[in-house]
Amino acid sequence: MSYTLMSQLFVRTLREDPADAEMPSHKWLIRAGYIRRVAPGIYTWLPLGLRVLAKVESIIRDEMAAIGAQEVHFPALLPREPYEQTHRWTEYGPSLFRLKDRKGADLLLGPTHEEMFTILVKDLCSSYKDLPLILFQIQTKYRDEARPRAGVIRGREFIMKDSYSFNVDDQGLAQAYDQHRKAYQAVMERLGLEYVIVQAMSGAMGGSRSEEFLAVTPFGEDTFVRSAGGYAANVEAVRVAPAPECNCANAPAPRLVATPGASTIASLVDAVNRVAPRPDREWQASDTLKNVVFMRSDPTGQRHPLVIGLPGDRDVDPKRLEAAISPDTIEPFTASDFLNYPQLVAGYIGPVRLDDPPTKILGPGSVDDLTYLTDPRVSKGSSWISGANLADHHLVGLVTGRDFVSDGSIDVAEVRSGDPAPDGSGPLELARGVEMGHIFQLGRKYADALGLKVLDANGKLVTVTMGSYGIGVTRAVAMVAETTCDERGLAWPKNIAPYDLVIVVAGKGADLMEAAMMLANDLAVEGVDLVVDDRLVSPGVKFADAELIGFPTSVVVGRGLKDGLIELRDRASGDARSVPLTEAVAAILQQVQS
Ligand code: ATP
Ligand code: MG
Repeated sequence: MSYTLMSQLFVRTLREDPADAEMPSHKWLIRAGYIRRVAPGIYTWLPLGLRVLAKVESIIRDEMAAIGAQEVHFPALLPREPYEQTHRWTEYGPSLFRLKDRKGADLLLGPTHEEMFTILVKDLCSSYKDLPLILFQIQTKYRDEARPRAGVIRGREFIMKDSYSFNVDDQGLAQAYDQHRKAYQAVMERLGLEYVIVQAMSGAMGGSRSEEFLAVTPFGEDTFVRSAGGYAANVEAVRVAPAPECNCANAPAPRLVATPGASTIASLVDAVNRVAPRPDREWQASDTLKNVVFMRSDPTGQRHPLVIGLPGDRDVDPKRLEAAISPDTIEPFTASDFLNYPQLVAGYIGPVRLDDPPTKILGPGSVDDLTYLTDPRVSKGSSWISGANLADHHLVGLVTGRDFVSDGSIDVAEVRSGDPAPDGSGPLELARGVEMGHIFQLGRKYADALGLKVLDANGKLVTVTMGSYGIGVTRAVAMVAETTCDERGLAWPKNIAPYDLVIVVAGKGADLMEAAMMLANDLAVEGVDLVVDDRLVSPGVKFADAELIGFPTSVVVGRGLKDGLIELRDRASGDARSVPLTEAVAAILQQVQS
């Protein structure tokens, strides 16, 4: 056992914040010499960073072993063919790094490895006796993220632990899923992260049951909701309960009202309250049906307008929309797009135009290739004020199902704090988090596409059912940093810190250095992993670096030595106490191991 001299350690701490730091952890990991940026979303890991990374990996390996998962390691450079068979070569869109070899064959850099694991198990397993099986790897993934962010929190190259379960029946899958859920809870506990488990969208993966583990932080990119009664979901996955059917079918036919200049919801409400007042109460924004047009592109590049109808008091949530239509993407509907669809009058778009007979502008049987999807609140029989497809005019009393129909439902309106939880468990509260892990019941999608079948106990060929489970390893390092750092730098928990402690030689005398080295030796023998800050710099610089780097414990050998004392400092609590040199090893061991 030995110790490391700070003068030899390959670390250069920086006094200046990096210009692009978006989150405190990003700033500190760069300044404390853990990572270095190479290009957007691409980072080098330096010795301190690698040590932390290894500790996080070892926690994850440990918990994977506990559920009987076996480790393998796939290449990151993969052939196109399997991804073609599952359509992900196209569906992954611009996020997939595609490349060609010298012979012109298509390759990709793996964004996730469902296909490869499925093929491996297909090649090597033929009977139900080979299952259940859980395989995992800790491996580098590549995704050309649209917005790399906050250092390694969202990288274009990052490390993921991905595991895959293989079972013959649904019950087996449910069990493997549950095992992973518990393993992930254990990992989050050991990382010391405050987390929530939320219902998730299964997105490009397909499949059914799916949950995310979010670390709670105000800087998170994910918004989630929760109710006091226990409902929790990523905002993308919230499914609003459809409004009950109403009976406005006997209401008078829709009528055209002049609403000059009322191209916004606020001005519309104002106008109808003046020109077409309601006897029982004032019109409100939620009485209006707002129709928002987008241009939707599928992965092959085909573009079609998509019109979304929703109550005027709500906006479309871009992230919910993106998640709902994935792998298709959305672009704004531009002025030149409007020229190609003259029946859509900007600011006055509605499902019908009151010609004689009325013209369907949106929905089945409409003039063009427009898809019209409506919010679940636009229930059958509900009555609305909507655009008349005529400048400066609206229709009042348009009844859903009688005067217009949509092509289907889409649940992408913004979710607001106070909205009822879909399961009736109380009002929703919104908060933010960073996705740390994601568990999916994939079902038979990949096994079907790639022909993974085994013989069951009756000798019948059955398609294997799969689960896929990911944890962001590099992201986890950053999130532990993020949730423990303070205004002086990193403050690692003891089980994740790159070293147990630093001995700060605070002064010039040879006696200080000698005492420090002796103490270092004694501690190293006891298995303590430590650094001695032997540099010829001022004690102030050493203290600042010790706090920046985030050693959990600092041992100061300085002025007190002439009285036979050293000082023990705890980074997280800031507590400091003097200890006689003669009792130092025992006291330090106790602090390090607590
Ligand atoms: P996100 O919604 O944040 O883009 P995702 O849903 O695409 O993530 P998964 O495919 O579920 O991610 O990947 C599993 C885990 O890998 C995530 O829970 C996350 O911790 C991590 N991860 C995903 N993308 C990145 C990235 N670009 N950089 C770092 N870690 C990532
Ligand atoms: Mg995910």
